[in-house]
Amino acid sequence: MDIIFIICSLLFIFALIFHNTSYSEENNATGYDDSILVIEVFDDDEEESKYELKETVAINAVLRASKICQKVFQKLVMSDTVIKKDRSPVTVADFSAQAVVNKILYETFPNDLIVGEEESGCLQGDNRKELKNKVLSLANSVLDTPLNDNELLDTINRGSSPGGSSGRIWALDPIDGTKGFLRGEQFCIGLALIIDRDVHLGVLGCPNLLVDLKTPEGEKGCLFVAIKGKGAFQHKFSSTEETQIHLADISSPSAALFCESVVAEHSSHGDAAKIASFLGITKPPLHMDSMCKYCVVARGDADIYLSLPVRVDYEENIWDHAAGCILIKEAGGIVSDINNKPLDFSLGRTLKTNKGVVVAHSKIHGQVIDVVQQLILKK
Ligand code: AMP
Ligand code: MG
Repeated sequence: MDIIFIICSLLFIFALIFHNTSYSEENNATGYDDSILVIEVFDDDEEESKYELKETVAINAVLRASKICQKVFQKLVMSDTVIKKDRSPVTVADFSAQAVVNKILYETFPNDLIVGEEESGCLQGDNRKELKNKVLSLANSVLDTPLNDNELLDTINRGSSPGGSSGRIWALDPIDGTKGFLRGEQFCIGLALIIDRDVHLGVLGCPNLLVDLKTPEGEKGCLFVAIKGKGAFQHKFSSTEETQIHLADISSPSAALFCESVVAEHSSHGDAAKIASFLGITKPPLHMDSMCKYCVVARGDADIYLSLPVRVDYEENIWDHAAGCILIKEAGGIVSDINNKPLDFSLGRTLKTNKGVVVAHSKIHGQVIDVVQQLILKK
């Protein structure tokens, strides 16, 4: 009897040890091998760097937040969690990613405002201590100077700016496309700098996006950078070498490949199908989560991106579009809403005067808008 008791106790202790291999470990916080996360960190001290300080800082912040998401996702896969039902890992990644980006921005630009998607409300209170500790250790696993327990919530809450029409405002989505993240599909970390109502810089980290869509077994992990007046660029996560990107040259919408959200509650698939058919488009739509849609259009893998309102009262968030918008403009495309109005990032945290989003090459954007207006606005 005693022997059975001792064996059971030992098994229980072993189970506890394995179970506790969690985010809270000191180094390598997720318990996974960091070497498989091939993210080249840009060096802000490099004299010959082609980027200005704000660009290098934003790139570094997005790459580090991308690393957090990769760690959390690997942890999910390796621990056989039923990821579709369990949203808590996303919460951990969301908060940690926002803490990291906000901290890095604040260290260099303490006077800039940040409009970030998350706020720390649900990390407060004694019953949230475990979640808070996970968020803290995950954030610290990618930071050079760690945050302490007291700084974490304030750092996350630095993203609570109301936005507006003057000064320097960063728009941050720490994980755009949560549903894609949970499915192991597309998601991105989106960061944009708006100066006096105009987007000047967009950086998007897309950990699951193929560097080349035509090579499905190839490398994943792309960073996109767009700088006002200077162009749009793609880097692999594994390299700091950049390639300038452009929309595909297209003269007729009928040849287009269009993309839309995977989630029909976010964008009307029915309306998009009618528009596509009216334009003579025969290719089936590319369904993709997050601002990765802006990225694939910007680099010429798709030609049109439609986000068509499902609910009349929905206001788009500025962090869901600012970085993607400048990427498209700098790559030769046009971004408007369904009324052909430019997206207005100066009205607060949401795009209050815009409805939906229509993205296309400047040669065909007008034709797409004509059909959108015929079919949707006159419904
Ligand atoms: P997507 O990956 O294209 O489905 O877009 C994801 C984003 O859609 C999320 O970040 C949400 O902020 C946003 N979203 C949530 N509800 C709606 C809605 N009713 N209409 C449009 N976008 C939405
Ligand atoms: Mg989002």
